Amino acid sequence: SHQDWLLEVDALDSSYGRIQALSSISLKVRRGETVALVGANGAGKTTLLRALSGVQPARAGQLRFAGEDIRRLRADLRVRRGICQSPEGRQVFGPLSIEDNLRLGGYTQPRAQADSDLEQVYAMFPVLKEKRRLPAGTLSGGQQQMLAIGRALMGRPKLLLLDEPSMGLAPLLVEEVFNVVKTLKAQGMTLILAEQNAFSALALADRGYVLETGRITLSGGGRELIDNEQVRAAYLGM
Ligand code: ATP
Repeated sequence: SHQDWLLEVDALDSSYGRIQALSSISLKVRRGETVALVGANGAGKTTLLRALSGVQPARAGQLRFAGEDIRRLRADLRVRRGICQSPEGRQVFGPLSIEDNLRLGGYTQPRAQADSDLEQVYAMFPVLKEKRRLPAGTLSGGQQQMLAIGRALMGRPKLLLLDEPSMGLAPLLVEEVFNVVKTLKAQGMTLILAEQNAFSALALADRGYVLETGRITLSGGGRELIDNEQVRAAYLGM
């Protein structure tokens, strides 16, 4: 039913000046679902996540979250409603301590709640607790990715947007990041995962969408897309 959809995107357009980056994007996400966005570099995955979190304006179309129209809602107010993003390239604040980075993610929450959420993030990522007083810039790439995810979790997401969490990581760390995503999924989190690592993303997603030059060209179950000939040729190197 209508109530099952946490996110409903219909005919969404977004552009950078005259460059149209998203054309008539329609997609839906159910509560508790993991949805993968796959596509080549420049296909529009980042722009779409940014349009959902409100950092990038959507010029036209519909955007509904928990049944409410949020297309014109400011990004900070979307965070308060539970749309939290772990951005591409991690974007942690290097000079700030790991703990302060995490607290920034929880600034919308009452102090006591942020304190207990911090402990939960530390339980999930023990290395962040060990190093909590150190500048975030001293962390390895994989650890910074954990920090970016932890920071997003501090906002108590109802919908967590993960932009290329495996980007630039060594294979062992890529696996670690995907294990974190699996854990969050198992905990019932609703997730949108944008990834160039199409196989890993589709393998754990319930459903996926393929983006090409700002349009959705294919959608289906994660497994179904892995088995799709076009997807195999274009994105899985098969
Ligand atoms: P990536 O894997 O590099 O993040 P992507 O699929 O996320 O790729 P986007 O970064 O969303 O793709 O880019 C979509 C399109 O918008 C591309 O054609 C890109 O060149 C363009 N674009 C992205 N950011 C800007 C910007 N700030 N100004 C102008 N054009 C941009």
